[in-house]
Amino acid sequence: MAILTKAPRGTQDILPKDSFQWRFLETVTMETAALFGFKEIRTPTFEHTELFCRSVGDTTDVVQKEMYTFTDKGNRSVTLKPEGTAGAVRAAVEHSLLADALPVKVSYLTSCFRYEKPQAGRLREFHQFGVEMLGSKSPSADAEVIGLANEIFSVLGVKHLALELNSIGCPECRPKYHKALKEYFESRKDELCETCLSRLETNPMRILDCKSPVCSAIAKDAPVVLDFICDECKEHFDGVKARLDSMGIAYTVNPRIVRGLDYYTKTVFEFVTSQIGAQGTVCGGGRYDGLVEELGGAKTPGLGFAMGLERLLLLLAAQENELPAPRPCELYIASIGDAANIKAGELCARLRSEGFYVECDTMERSVKAQMKYANKIGAKMSMVLGDSELESGKAALKDMDTGESAEVSLGDELTQRLYDAGLARATSALTDQIGDAQLLTLLGQDPISE
Ligand code: ATP
Ligand code: MG
Repeated sequence: MAILTKAPRGTQDILPKDSFQWRFLETVTMETAALFGFKEIRTPTFEHTELFCRSVGDTTDVVQKEMYTFTDKGNRSVTLKPEGTAGAVRAAVEHSLLADALPVKVSYLTSCFRYEKPQAGRLREFHQFGVEMLGSKSPSADAEVIGLANEIFSVLGVKHLALELNSIGCPECRPKYHKALKEYFESRKDELCETCLSRLETNPMRILDCKSPVCSAIAKDAPVVLDFICDECKEHFDGVKARLDSMGIAYTVNPRIVRGLDYYTKTVFEFVTSQIGAQGTVCGGGRYDGLVEELGGAKTPGLGFAMGLERLLLLLAAQENELPAPRPCELYIASIGDAANIKAGELCARLRSEGFYVECDTMERSVKAQMKYANKIGAKMSMVLGDSELESGKAALKDMDTGESAEVSLGDELTQRLYDAGLARATSALTDQIGDAQLLTLLGQDPISE
């Protein structure tokens, strides 16, 4: 039955051969964010449907077409989260995080769910790394958040990712822009798609985000928002740009970016590439100064971004960016006979508690087959235990790369040899590599090609 052996359309299994890449991305993103003061927040996978209608906006594609909404057994409408911001802001309000020191800075890794047409870089369950920063209206906050995304890409050695920047105004100036847009689109009303016709009344800016080729062609000549923003928004935008300039972060102003979610005000931005096909936006974000209040909190400015991890991995693959390999097996202990197998198990337990990655036979294989397995898993070293080794308490420790071997006692000497071979205890080899990568970045060297 295909239904038993095939994952639902638009979902992906992350298999053991690939999962280390995910763990690497998760570590780089979260640890880099930590250097900026962001701390992890975890919120539920589903929320009251109303939360997303209110925040994301009920004229957006996300709410109108893409949400996984269902009625639970208590007759409540709940929705699998289509993005991370709404839940994080809801949690900040619910738990009075805003009463503590400002700004509140949170980061997260999460699954998101959207009922979309699956294609490369577009799934129904996808994964985001995101951050939210609440409490600052200053352009320095915008620069910090954009700077974080930029830093993550630079730690990963990602190239050819362009930062596009825009300001979409605030409730002061947006009505003027809406009016101009409405007038423009009214004049071409009969060409618009049905959804956009209704958007014309409720939310004309959404038409700029319509994916239909006809609507997007019409949208090309629409009035641009930057001609309409008020002095405060303009000053804020200039402040953001000045800071990005001083940080040496290149960007282009693209007055056509509106983003797919309604909560944005002032700054919006995207990191875009042409190297992974049509779904080229790897990271999107911006300011949402009205959202906290909209969700029942005190009037508090905020901003954030989300990166699509699938798209980021596609980009790393397209650029043949080598990610650190997973930690290899450090020692394989083969055994001949039951008594030796028991001893191998005992040694494994001891060495693992020392932090080494060791394996022994659990398949009752011949010694030849055991060594084949040791080769297959890429074990760095191996040894064979038989009756004579048990008797002498010594065995030949073989370097699997050079083929050289030397006799060691099975006590402390074995542990010492593993340390000496540079296989020093590491609680997390990945974390060590990130540490090095960041150090190299700080030193101005390219961590990936190093
Ligand atoms: P798009 O225009 O590609 O639909 P979006 O504007 O809907 O993107 P956001 O809601 O801002 O995207 O989400 C932030 C990031 O999450 C996107 O830039 C993208 O990298 C990723 N993303 C969004 N939707 C999907 C999806 N269905 N599959 C994979 N990644 C996605
Ligand atoms: Mg979308």
